[in-house]
Amino acid sequence: MGHTAIQNDLEEQWERIQARLLEEYGEATYSSWLKPLSVVDHQEGRIRLAAPNAFMRDWVSNNYAERVKALFQSENDNVRQLDVIVGGANEKKKQPDQPLLDLPEIVSNLDARFTFENFIVGKPNELAHAAARKVAESETVTFNPLFLYGGVGLGKTHLMHAIAWQIKKCHPKRKVIYLSAEKFMYQFVRALRFKDTVAFKDQFRSVDVLMIDDVQFISGKDSTQEEFFHTFNALVDQNRQIIISADKSPSDMEGMEERLKSRLGGGLVADIHPTTYELRLGILQAKAEQMEASVPQKVLEFLAYKISSNVRELEGALTRVVAHSTLVGRDITLDSTQEVLRDLLRANDRRVTIDEIQKKVAEYYSVRVSDMHSPRRARTVARPRQVAMYLAKQLTPRSLPEIGRKFGGRDHTTVIHAVRKIEELMGEEKNMCEDIELLRQMLEG
Ligand code: ADP
Ligand code: MG
Repeated sequence: MGHTAIQNDLEEQWERIQARLLEEYGEATYSSWLKPLSVVDHQEGRIRLAAPNAFMRDWVSNNYAERVKALFQSENDNVRQLDVIVGGANEKKKQPDQPLLDLPEIVSNLDARFTFENFIVGKPNELAHAAARKVAESETVTFNPLFLYGGVGLGKTHLMHAIAWQIKKCHPKRKVIYLSAEKFMYQFVRALRFKDTVAFKDQFRSVDVLMIDDVQFISGKDSTQEEFFHTFNALVDQNRQIIISADKSPSDMEGMEERLKSRLGGGLVADIHPTTYELRLGILQAKAEQMEASVPQKVLEFLAYKISSNVRELEGALTRVVAHSTLVGRDITLDSTQEVLRDLLRANDRRVTIDEIQKKVAEYYSVRVSDMHSPRRARTVARPRQVAMYLAKQLTPRSLPEIGRKFGGRDHTTVIHAVRKIEELMGEEKNMCEDIELLRQMLEG
């Protein structure tokens, strides 16, 4: 085979792989990171891909190269290595200039279900919700920026979309941009590539409300941070509203410049706490109603009790239960629910933490939680502490040294001793067996 034939082969492989990547990663990721790559050559088991700039090269190498390599290997056994380089032989593949951000695209980004009407308010999210409403409805800029943070699946994106919808309703003239930090970064990189950073800046700097979701994404990415910082300052100076979400508070964000952290925390910082049982039940009731599904109250209570991780999982569980009943044409019962969700429930069961164990055990024996960490050896606190260590060993995947550390930095041999002691006592005392059984039930739900 001549050189050209091999090259053609390679191009074809790359096309097939790109189709797979599109399928696996979805349109947004694919067109941001994978589509701009071109295949350069294949020499002695080493494939080279070209990225348009150093930034994209690094990003692709860190995030997608493993998968791309595996796909090349499934095309060709000889492939051993995949390198991503800048530029490369395929300069011919210049892409046509595209407009940077176009607003209809942003609006269609918004999920129609993520409105204030569909957001259930409870203790854990009431501050974030109130702040979001205020920002969406007030005539003037009150706190800037509004910084919403909380764990995965607790409603940050929902609240941001709700703000955007509400502004569109109350103040249709305001120009609102909502985008993920990843998109922001991509737009910025693209502007650099097309040497069009002025248009990029203008685009962002002409908005009334700028919303950036999941801003933790740009930590560690210095040039994007720099640009974001300038955009941010320009907008704040012009008294435009900025709304940010992240998985951590500004001060806890790693890889973020101090001056940016302090600006991010300079408005109102509102956190969304993990859900409570009441909130979960409220959300389930609302969702069941929306789905027009008749779900027995005790099934909803069961789900709210069992699935405490996040709202996304909770919704997923309800959807599965409802879908199953529709498919098999049977009513939803507690039994069918447990059956349908067996794997999910097991995963949630395992999530007892050492902190929870310490708290429950302390409560149960009427000692202080701090006694779990303290060096005191008095029997009244030492025994409950041993019970808690025993339960930590039984109910969590933590190692002995990890458990020891959680109990005031004790040695792992102390944990072994505690486990043996409790086992011994369980063999001798009926009370101890009952205590352990009760505690286990309370903790596992
Ligand atoms: P995050 O962005 O914090 O990871 P999302 O906003 O994507 O979480 O929320 C995950 C899912 O849970 C979404 O479908 C959202 O509608 C739903 N959800 C979260 N909190 C609530 C709530 N308080 N009321 C109703 N639905 C909620
Ligand atoms: Mg989100």
